[in-house]
Amino acid sequence: MATRHVVSIPVKSSAGRYRAVFDRGGLARLGRHAGAVLPSERVVLVSDAHVAALYAEAALGALGRARLRAEMVVIPAGERAKTLETARRLYDQFADMGVDRATGIIALGGGVVGDVAGFVAATYLRGLPLIHVPTTTLAQADAAIGGKTAVDLPAGKNLVGAFHAPRLVLADTATLATLPDRHMRAGLAEVAKVAFTLEPELLRLLEGAFELDTALQRAAATKARVVSRDEREAGMRMVLNYGHTVGHALEALGGYRRWLHGEAVAFGIRAAARLATLTGAGTAAWEERQNAVLDRLGFARAFPPVSIAKLFSYMSLDKKARAGAPVFVLTARVGVVRVRRSLSLGTVTRALASLGARP
Ligand code: NAD
Repeated sequence: MATRHVVSIPVKSSAGRYRAVFDRGGLARLGRHAGAVLPSERVVLVSDAHVAALYAEAALGALGRARLRAEMVVIPAGERAKTLETARRLYDQFADMGVDRATGIIALGGGVVGDVAGFVAATYLRGLPLIHVPTTTLAQADAAIGGKTAVDLPAGKNLVGAFHAPRLVLADTATLATLPDRHMRAGLAEVAKVAFTLEPELLRLLEGAFELDTALQRAAATKARVVSRDEREAGMRMVLNYGHTVGHALEALGGYRRWLHGEAVAFGIRAAARLATLTGAGTAAWEERQNAVLDRLGFARAFPPVSIAKLFSYMSLDKKARAGAPVFVLTARVGVVRVRRSLSLGTVTRALASLGARP
């Protein structure tokens, strides 16, 4: 019999330690995993309509086998459901169900389910025990780890949120078999981000014929290392925003419909790489190396012909902006990261215009 390959990544948070467990086929063992970290046998499974149709039965079956009493609530799929309205509906459902402080919340789905269910778990009754069961490349490699939860406002992404560490992250990479190609690829932008900012070995992996599970685990382990040292983004965690200043602005500009988060981040990385070249923080060769990886992963190279002025106004609203000045994370090479808060509109315009945006 083949041995089961389980990778268990330790994560430190102010609320205690937890583990991000990569276990292919592990959804069938969700009950056992959850039972070990939850305070009571009562759980609410939160999922979105797509994921629920595919995996709710398996998840509920696994919880039942471990004698956990599970109820389920379903939210609409997609970024447009990452709102206060969705959170509000969940609060009402939790109240109807009589959810109490010992009820465990299990977020089964991608980053959207993780962020909304996590936000509700952070705020309902001032905090409920939470487990993430991420089912997208993006959520397994990145979003499920680190305790950030949020919802979007029309004014911008993730503007309302809370830190709420999970008790466990259980990533079953077998669930990725049903993930549409476009989403599969989008998550790899976050893997590339980790490679470009922190992990030379992961970068070399992405430049070769890489194995998906390994790349996701490597990125997750790096994220775990970073958030264990800097949970609240006082310093090092800032690096994980590479590509996100322009990325978040693009997402908002596209009404959270036009580009997936990862697609927007890939454009954001290309923009950051160009800004580094233009300002002398990086080199043209380094920019091209990053572009070549993003090309290989299947991300479009030509920047969308959006208005730079509009994009800049979204960037100024970003929660990391100070006094309207967006913050840019630039890289000189892997591991050499600079945070710049003073890039002028002129410099940003030159960079984005040279990539294809409209001055
Ligand atoms: P998503 O949650 O919208 O999932 C993508 C789509 O795939 C959805 O339609 C979903 O229903 C479907 N899906 C999910 N798993 C599936 C599966 N196994 N099989 C078939 N379909 C499946 O998107 P995402 O890319 O996972 O997450 C994006 C969100 O994550 C963004 O809102 C972003 O801001 C957030 N995020 C959060 C953090 C954090 O630290 N909290 C970090 C990065 C990103």
